[in-house]
Amino acid sequence: MPGRLPLDSGRIASRAEIPRAGRIVVKVGSSSICGANASQIGPLVDALATAHGRGSDVVLVSSGAIATGIPFLRLDSRPTDLATQQAAAAVGQNVLIYRYQDSLDRYEIVAGQVLLTAGDLENPVHRSNAQRAMERLLGLRILPIVNENDTVATHEIRFGDNDRLASLVAQLVHADLLLLLSDVDALYTRPPSTAGARPIHHVAFGEDLAGVEFGDIGSAGVGTGGAGTKVAAATLAAASGTPVLLAATTQVAAALDGADIGTWFDPAPPRR
Ligand code: GLU
Repeated sequence: MPGRLPLDSGRIASRAEIPRAGRIVVKVGSSSICGANASQIGPLVDALATAHGRGSDVVLVSSGAIATGIPFLRLDSRPTDLATQQAAAAVGQNVLIYRYQDSLDRYEIVAGQVLLTAGDLENPVHRSNAQRAMERLLGLRILPIVNENDTVATHEIRFGDNDRLASLVAQLVHADLLLLLSDVDALYTRPPSTAGARPIHHVAFGEDLAGVEFGDIGSAGVGTGGAGTKVAAATLAAASGTPVLLAATTQVAAALDGADIGTWFDPAPPRR
């Protein structure tokens, strides 16, 4: 069983330092790992296992429960009513975790399923319970896989495909990096399919992004996040001291190896 990185090596200040991050939260959205993209689970797990193997604590925040559940409910497309979305999530969560564990088995890594709500993280008792459980899981070298608890909460179903939840989890575990994976390879000055869109390499802490035009949702239409919810999540994590990298799911291995890709968000300077 691989050990953990020494605690003093945790904090990082740039992409190149990612391989020595002590604790990493990786967030992946529905459209990247469901339907035609279900085969991306294998390469995603390869990259997570590499980071885990070099001693980083790794937490995966994965949506995709609804999208994975849809075919099992014999539906052709995403249901529009909340109750059926929740039913699809209940079915799909089970299948999704099975797929992750099946892939993690290749590395003898065990997953722990953690279902949370944003409200849990605001309630001091629930928050400290969640924190204790996460610390114990990570101490045992388990790979926690977090999703919204969709039968009791629907924030991420409606607004964010787990982008906000991921930044709250990064805050909860004091992550040294939040890696937000997307079907787009960076934040662009305007929706990347439109003329004149340019990738943004670096966002300084507190930088005004008012000039950036956000599109709506991911290309596959099975999730509910977009550039706007990603920037909101990145800003929230950065404000609590965690740097954020936004990159394409297909580039997860390069991102965790410290490649110069995606959009880097500087964290707030440490408080003295
Ligand atoms: N928790 C939901 C899921 O896993 C959120 C994603 C969505 O809105 O589709 O499916």
